[in-house]
Amino acid sequence: MIELDGKVVSQKIREEIKEEIEHIKEKTGKVPGLTVIIVGEDPASKIYVRSKDKMANALGVNSRVLQFDETVSQEKLIAAIRELNEDENVDGVLVQTPLPKKFNTWQVLDTLNPGKDVDRFHPVNLGMVLLNRTEIFPCTPAGILKILDFYDIDVTGMAAVVIGRSFIVGKPIASMLTNRHATVTLCHSQTRNLPAVVKRADLVIAAIGRPGFITADMVKQGAILVDVGINRLDKAATVSKYCTESQQKKFAKKGYGICGDIHKDAYEKSAYYTPVPGGVGLMTVAMLLHNTLQLFKAGRKKE
Ligand code: NAD
Repeated sequence: MIELDGKVVSQKIREEIKEEIEHIKEKTGKVPGLTVIIVGEDPASKIYVRSKDKMANALGVNSRVLQFDETVSQEKLIAAIRELNEDENVDGVLVQTPLPKKFNTWQVLDTLNPGKDVDRFHPVNLGMVLLNRTEIFPCTPAGILKILDFYDIDVTGMAAVVIGRSFIVGKPIASMLTNRHATVTLCHSQTRNLPAVVKRADLVIAAIGRPGFITADMVKQGAILVDVGINRLDKAATVSKYCTESQQKKFAKKGYGICGDIHKDAYEKSAYYTPVPGGVGLMTVAMLLHNTLQLFKAGRKKE
């Protein structure tokens, strides 16, 4: 079993982005602009947004966060997005989801100019992914393909099983793997006899949100395991059941540990696996910044 190391791959991507932005800045005096919109006080979302913003600025992106109180109206939020659509210094906009329940999320996301939609969740952009007509992909699926590419894993002809059908991960990665000539089965909570379906897979992508859900007995010997799930555990019994040794140590110090949707024992049977943390999660942030740079290049080409 070989670990697909998200730290190494994401760092390489970040270095390349930083270098390219420095070069562009020297030549044109301009840098890509990213605005992240966050509504409400969800602590996990705030941590994500802060870390994205910090990393973006560290790479030379002109990044800022627009924080709205949960009491903001749908109309006001939409007006703010319209303003960003017109702002020539803003190349990418990200609306942190989930939005608080009172909002019509699709209406908010649909307002965004597809050319500034850094997450690529706008229906136009997801349509382009499906049709294989774009080079800019949703961040997590893009990160998955980047890490496979880095380790020279060609999915052509593979039986790929994706578990989870969200528009953020499952649906786009299923399309992207199909476009790369894998034979894809997309599973979800209503799938019958999931263990038998997973057992046939050469490549398993798990995006479910349930600790250790894909167990060792479900996977084929020599399969490639890509774990998208991020589950935070804070009880000693579940931490020792699902978390790797290093996360168990973290639990002892900080009171929580992180694990994925693929049980750590399944790694032993794999040819390759992505760890949690240290795998797909790091790739997602790197691809957000990659996308920001691509949107900058596409949008300011005419200047
Ligand atoms: P989601 O939370 O919107 O939906 C979960 C999916 O899992 C659904 O499609 C559902 O059908 C499926 N599912 C639930 N129970 C199931 C079962 N018993 N059998 C089969 N399928 C089942 O999905 P999401 O937003 O893609 O998030 C999934 C996980 O990935 C979460 O842990 C999330 O935190 C994580 N995530 C990680 C990253 C990253 O960068 N690593 C990015 C996005 C999401």
